[in-house]
Amino acid sequence: MQKPQKDKVCAEFCARFPSYRTDIQNTERLGFMLNHPLIRSKLNEWIGADNKTQPELMSKKKKEKKTNVNNQFIDTDESNSPLPSPPTHSTNTNQYLKNPIKSKHQRELGNELFKNKKLHKSLEAYNEAVRFAPFYRPPPTSSTQNDGKNNDAEEELDTLLALSLANRSAVYFELGESFHEKSLADVDLALKYGYPDRLKSKLLLRKANIYVTSKQWSRAESIIEEIRKSDDDPATYKLNIDRINGLSDQIHKNISHPNSEKEIDFPDVTLFHNNENFENASTGVKLSYSEDSKRFVVAVTDLKKKDIMFNETPFASVLLPQFYESHCHNCHKMLEHSHFIPCKQCTQCKFCSEPCAKNAWNVYHKYECLSLDLLHSVGIAHLAVRIIFCAGLQNILVAVRKHDNLKDPKNISIFQIGLNSNYERVYSLLDHLVDMNPEDVFQYTLTAGLLTNWIVNKTSFFEEHEACQEGNYSETQVTVGASMLHHISQLICNAHAITDILCDVNVNKISLSTADESQQRIATAIYPSASMMNHSCEPNISFTFNNGRVLLVKVTKDVSKGQEIFNCYGPHWRRMSCQLRLESLDDQYFFKCKCFHCTEEFARNISFVDKFTSFKCDECEGPVPSPDGDNQQFVSSCQTCGHEMDLHDQVLACMYTDRLVQDAEVLLGRGNVKQALDIFDTCEDQYSGFLYKYHSSFGQLADIIARCYAILGEFSKAAEFVKKSLIYVEQRFGIESFEYGREVKKYVDLRSQSNVDVECQDDELNRLTELYKSILLDQ
Ligand SMILES: [Zn+2]
Ligand SMILES: [Zn+2]
Ligand SMILES: [Zn+2]
Ligand SMILES: [Zn+2]
Repeated sequence: MQKPQKDKVCAEFCARFPSYRTDIQNTERLGFMLNHPLIRSKLNEWIGADNKTQPELMSKKKKEKKTNVNNQFIDTDESNSPLPSPPTHSTNTNQYLKNPIKSKHQRELGNELFKNKKLHKSLEAYNEAVRFAPFYRPPPTSSTQNDGKNNDAEEELDTLLALSLANRSAVYFELGESFHEKSLADVDLALKYGYPDRLKSKLLLRKANIYVTSKQWSRAESIIEEIRKSDDDPATYKLNIDRINGLSDQIHKNISHPNSEKEIDFPDVTLFHNNENFENASTGVKLSYSEDSKRFVVAVTDLKKKDIMFNETPFASVLLPQFYESHCHNCHKMLEHSHFIPCKQCTQCKFCSEPCAKNAWNVYHKYECLSLDLLHSVGIAHLAVRIIFCAGLQNILVAVRKHDNLKDPKNISIFQIGLNSNYERVYSLLDHLVDMNPEDVFQYTLTAGLLTNWIVNKTSFFEEHEACQEGNYSETQVTVGASMLHHISQLICNAHAITDILCDVNVNKISLSTADESQQRIATAIYPSASMMNHSCEPNISFTFNNGRVLLVKVTKDVSKGQEIFNCYGPHWRRMSCQLRLESLDDQYFFKCKCFHCTEEFARNISFVDKFTSFKCDECEGPVPSPDGDNQQFVSSCQTCGHEMDLHDQVLACMYTDRLVQDAEVLLGRGNVKQALDIFDTCEDQYSGFLYKYHSSFGQLADIIARCYAILGEFSKAAEFVKKSLIYVEQRFGIESFEYGREVKKYVDLRSQSNVDVECQDDELNRLTELYKSILLDQ
């Protein structure tokens, strides 16, 4: 395909649908896309509908497609063509199919490792065996059972999964009590997925053992009964008879004392009163509307710090591919002890439990399975597809009929419990298509067209629905595609990151005693109720994720009745300059922020964050912002007293000292700790001659000096410097920030390691431990 032709399509589109024509409906845009001959062939090619031409195209286009998760869904190639090229991986979907040979091999490897007591390694191998084993097929009904077709080879194939699960349960059992829950889960799964009857008592015995260990006597007893009744191979039973009797004795000694039965702990139920007029919100807030703020959330009572405002499960969410191995595909919980349930068809995703696996399959994964690579390549538009599947065709058709009603921002009753479907609430979120430039809209429309084509050609989504049984369902297709375009453009402003606190795997970093943890984005989701909060650069709420993807929104300070509840969409006053915040909010969300900080900083032409790159004022020691590098001008004036300074010499001195710090870091990397320390000391002296007292270099230096002392084993000295760096972290990020909590934790860990004055420090340490725990757990 020729370049000029591609550009022609885009130009044609933009001419037909210029941004000022606000009355254009998505269906018209999508109709254009799906009916354009050039685009049509390209879309088919992209999803690999014409397999014959695929390899040839593939060899010509070796370039990997990159995906940008922010706004751009389809990365353009060098020619800046807006048309997608086919993903290079679409022909090897087979790599994700089950593989019995591989499964068997991994199980044998696991057995070998297990015998040699390499438990964790054997767990890894059994996990692979579980992943690659063909999924259990229930046996045919009784009439066909004895026709002799069930030969050994077939039985082996049918039991691969059950045997792998049983072996995995053995590892979890051996790993100790804290792993027993997983062992139990695997025993039950193995039994459910066709574990051979003749070996059953071995598994039941393991189960009884676990119940005995956890003192659940009556449960243990019923399992023993089951073993005795089982029509097991007599030889196996005989082999186990002593163990069975032993367990049975132990049970009977204890079961007569009802007190010894272990009580099952119930998890804390968080106090949260559901608001009838505002689904997923608490009774402490309400949804309001004004010309200025559109829909917004406001406190109806005085709220206390840590009160929960929203408790919301997302309508749909998509796990980022790099977390497929470690988190549940459906609920995004971290897979505990690397235990997972495999998908019944592919080897690509993992689930934390059977309900998650089933729910995912029934709602969306039956369509997406084996196509995930293609869906990843469209970035956040994958979430739009997921929304379509989670909604279901019927709900989409109903919502589209109510379009005008749902798109009216004054209509806040949509969030009343029971009045509208959850999908209709998603549908009602603003999409800002009218504000976007036509080229962007072209991209999104093209993506929606591509994905609609994919759903039509590669899934049974439309066929399953009655309305489409007649065969002529192109109108329905366009309707669904138009909704998808609506969702794609909504997600630009409404998609929400789901984060988890994970250890940084950064081997090169010389770290202190504690592993570096950080919040990482693991998934993207849509929370219609929480989306009702407006932005402020200084929010009064924070997000926590419960059980993977359930969002808890808590207020971070006391809020009085009548005050608005604000979320931060990203640009935070402590993390971004005023100018950048205003620009990025306008670019992505199409509004001018009028929060306290933006108003104040814009008026005074300063930014809070500038302080941390400022020089020291000659007159008052206040912050003199670093001059713009571009125009060779070194004149800047003090934020406090207004004194004007030429910073030429300071800038040069700073560059010289920065260089010295880098040299010392190299020395430190080579193990010359003492020598590096000397240089860091000198640098600190030099910096204090010209840098503003809270310049970020001081914090970084304190941190690296602490690291040096920790390497030398001088923990109390190290703690002293971490305490120093706390001052800077507090200034920069505030005492409620994750950064501050992490630094306090570092301090506490170092103090506990140094044996000086431990006793008299206890109170302070306890206080600080409480502090960092409440900060880190609240994030
Ligand atoms: Zn799950
Ligand atoms: Zn799958
Ligand atoms: Zn602002
Ligand atoms: Zn000054």
